[in-house]
Amino acid sequence: MTSVNLQIAGAPGATCDPDLAAGPWDFDTVPGYGPGASIADVAPPSAPRQGTLPAQYREASEEELHARIVAARATLGSRVVVLGHFYQRDEIVQHADFLGDSFQLANAAQTVPDAETIVFCGVHFMAETADVLAKDDQAVILPNLAAGCSMADMADIDSVEEAWAQLSALYGEEPDADGRVPVIPVTYMNSAADLKAFCGRHGGIVCTSSNAETVLEWAFERGQRVLFFPDQHLGRNTAKKMGVPLEQMPLWNPRKPLGGSTEDELLAAKVLLWHGFCSVHKRFTVDQITRARADHPGVRVIVHPECPAPVVDAADEAGSTDYIRKAVAAATEPTTFAIGTEINMVNRLAAEYPQHTIFCLDPVVCPCSTMYRIHPGYLAWVLEELVAGRVVNQVRVPDDVAADARVALERMLAAKPKVSA
Ligand code: SF4
Repeated sequence: MTSVNLQIAGAPGATCDPDLAAGPWDFDTVPGYGPGASIADVAPPSAPRQGTLPAQYREASEEELHARIVAARATLGSRVVVLGHFYQRDEIVQHADFLGDSFQLANAAQTVPDAETIVFCGVHFMAETADVLAKDDQAVILPNLAAGCSMADMADIDSVEEAWAQLSALYGEEPDADGRVPVIPVTYMNSAADLKAFCGRHGGIVCTSSNAETVLEWAFERGQRVLFFPDQHLGRNTAKKMGVPLEQMPLWNPRKPLGGSTEDELLAAKVLLWHGFCSVHKRFTVDQITRARADHPGVRVIVHPECPAPVVDAADEAGSTDYIRKAVAAATEPTTFAIGTEINMVNRLAAEYPQHTIFCLDPVVCPCSTMYRIHPGYLAWVLEELVAGRVVNQVRVPDDVAADARVALERMLAAKPKVSA
């Protein structure tokens, strides 16, 4: 059995869960997100499950799996393209034709028209997005169907439809004197395809952490306010940076009438923030930043905008995974970086840029529970199945949902990232 390769830059760190040393297949039939940062989040009953991975892949060594993946890829040639997210483990990233954040990988899915199959080494909503953007005859495969996203699961279509009905009753549907409708829905890329479709149907748009500010500008040109889901922190951090006061950003709790706010609060609101969060980025704290500054005078602290607002405020910079990567690459002098994002990416940066000292703000190694589910065993399995002429773990978005989702995604792809380090 192969184990996960989790080391923190500079010093080995304690992991948040001893089960991380096990193979992800040990959790294939267990409800929930499995070990890692989302272990305490409640997975909806509808969350996709993965069937049992054949023993030959569970029992193979890391070296054997690597060789089998390389051989399968050589046989398949340009018929297959592998996309890899920055948060994937190194044993997966080394096989990726394209490595990127969700925005870059959504773009990449559109630029591989010759591939019959896109193997998406990321999480479920990303594979859905690739399926929406890919050609009709291209298949998108997620190597482990249990690689969901606990944040994406915090907003479901029924809850969003219910919120929309309450907001429509309160705000009406008439535009103001400037032609701006009462509310524009904006969904983070980290959401199910039916929520992207909801935005497409209701004049809304998708955003990523790379282009959230551009997208909010787009939305405010067309609407008096924004319903932002599912990540409250990205919505709050972005709108705050644009000058929206915190008191005009009420939280929408889908379990409470009017989301837990009064009518007056909602009428004064500029951004309604869905009660969702990323359990990876919620782990970062102001205390960690204080400690990093005390231990490493001159340290440059960069965090992801999925972190809570006080953490973003205490950091030197905040930006998407691609922003963080470019900021490190652009540093010309040896620099100490404390990074607040997923551990696999931080470790990779530390290895790629040995001239810098790079460490994760969180001293406890706690990867994303669902990115961790993509193990080389699953990648070898889906590729060898393709060699045998079988497509397994295909992610398909129904045509009607895909058509509406594509509208919102194409608006997003036209909204280029505002800041580039
Ligand atoms: S890092 Fe957070 S937002 Fe990204 S896939 Fe994991 S749980 Fe979801």
